[in-house]
Amino acid sequence: MTESTYRIHGATGDWEVVIGLEVHAQITSNAKLFSGAATAFGAEPNTQVSLVDAAMPGMLPAPNRECIRQAVRTGMAIEAQINKYSRFDRKNYFYADLPQGYQISQLYHPIVGEGQITVTLDEKHPNSATKTIGVERIHVEQDAGKLMHDQHPTRSYVDLNRSGVALMEIVSKPDMRSPVEAGAYVRKLRSILRYVGSCDGNMEEGSMRADVNVSVRKPGEEFGTRTETKNVNSVRFVMAVIEHEANRQVDVLEAGGKIVQETRLYDPDKNETRSMRSKEDAHDYRYFPDPDLLPLELDDAFLAECRASLPELPDAKRTRYETELGLSAYNAATLTAEVETTRWFESLVSESARAQGKSESDVARAAANWLLSELFGALNRLGKDLETSPVSPAQGAELLALVADGTLSGTLAKQVFEIMLETGDAAGKIVEEKGLKQTSDTGAIEEAAAKVIADNADKVEQYRGGKEALFGFFVGQTMKAMGGKANPKVVNEILKKALG
Ligand code: ADP
Ligand code: MG
Repeated sequence: MTESTYRIHGATGDWEVVIGLEVHAQITSNAKLFSGAATAFGAEPNTQVSLVDAAMPGMLPAPNRECIRQAVRTGMAIEAQINKYSRFDRKNYFYADLPQGYQISQLYHPIVGEGQITVTLDEKHPNSATKTIGVERIHVEQDAGKLMHDQHPTRSYVDLNRSGVALMEIVSKPDMRSPVEAGAYVRKLRSILRYVGSCDGNMEEGSMRADVNVSVRKPGEEFGTRTETKNVNSVRFVMAVIEHEANRQVDVLEAGGKIVQETRLYDPDKNETRSMRSKEDAHDYRYFPDPDLLPLELDDAFLAECRASLPELPDAKRTRYETELGLSAYNAATLTAEVETTRWFESLVSESARAQGKSESDVARAAANWLLSELFGALNRLGKDLETSPVSPAQGAELLALVADGTLSGTLAKQVFEIMLETGDAAGKIVEEKGLKQTSDTGAIEEAAAKVIADNADKVEQYRGGKEALFGFFVGQTMKAMGGKANPKVVNEILKKALG
């Protein structure tokens, strides 16, 4: 564990930045936290609203077991304390998108206590320093509805589809010290949520958003007063907010001013934060236990099921890819960053092992290299991703098997892959139809090599006179004469012999 040394250089010396993040993550669930209404994104306004979500008088909330389960599984995935006893509180405030007049949340007894997330500080260099960032708590709460404002004519609308949707609020400790650390934390948290399947992590659709708490201090001094910038919806923006807000605070302090604890909003177009409200006129939320809901008491069987249902998580998977599959640290880190990539990769590896009759560790390195360079390269070019990939893991495995058994050279494999992308045909079929088989037919290769040597007597003389670099020329000419289909190893051997 190392402390990064991000500093802001002010007129009065260097300043350190202190960051804590409160991430709101929408829980993956077909129904809302306390009602059976649907939660799908993008539905027509007000089509997914039950009487509970609309806060009709007399309606009673009933906790959704699946939402509770997802919060517990998430807590377990960050090695957090799981509280067998937790309780819901009412947070009272008036807002037009909150028909109840209060949000049901957990203040005093959250379902998940202290946990931790370890991040790699320089993600391009997976062996670089790591840092463990503390998580204070995770609590479960309801989302509010959404207001939409028209300018011409001036009108406001409310859409209650999101009202009552289950959120996890994941509160970090003020442990981060640079925009890079905060960015790495959000990415790692997002990755864990997606592995666990408790949140889709889709920041554009608002399934995950961060409140960014920032303060500055001279190194070694007490924490300074913080500001909180609300609802930041991309990793890039989180980092920009910290950069901007820390510099603003240093300017204020060095000009003799004071930082007031306040809520701010980020404007991505102008890349600046603006004050929304100060803590002085902050609401008194008058929290109290929700009398409509019993406390949650989790039994051992429930907790055991939650734990047993957890998948292998990114850190463990990355280590296993290195130690058991023999992948490089870089490939292991890249492949495990996103759960979709690991699924595709693992399916490619098991199909490859089966197709070649070998063990997974024998085929994993070639599979990793092909996926990360050839497949990702092609998907990038086509504007697609693994989900929409025109080639399946089984088809990829068939191609890799043809390389492994010498039917295809690397160059031919690239050609076959291009045709697979275009036609969706299987590699074996393409090889048959287009005659793209690599040949190790020594007779044909010897003939071609002999002709190249006869046609280039001058070069042969130079080569034999010591200009060894010319060997590549003979290989190239022979390959060309063979239409690119000769086994390069055999070509090399034959030319070595023929040229003496
Ligand atoms: P509140 O209940 O007012 O929201 P919390 O103590 O729960 O306050 O803190 C909210 C978030 O602010 C946490 O993520 C925490 O790490 C962060 N935080 C607290 N103090 C500071 C500080 N001085 N500088 C930066 N972040 C802070
Ligand atoms: Mg808070």
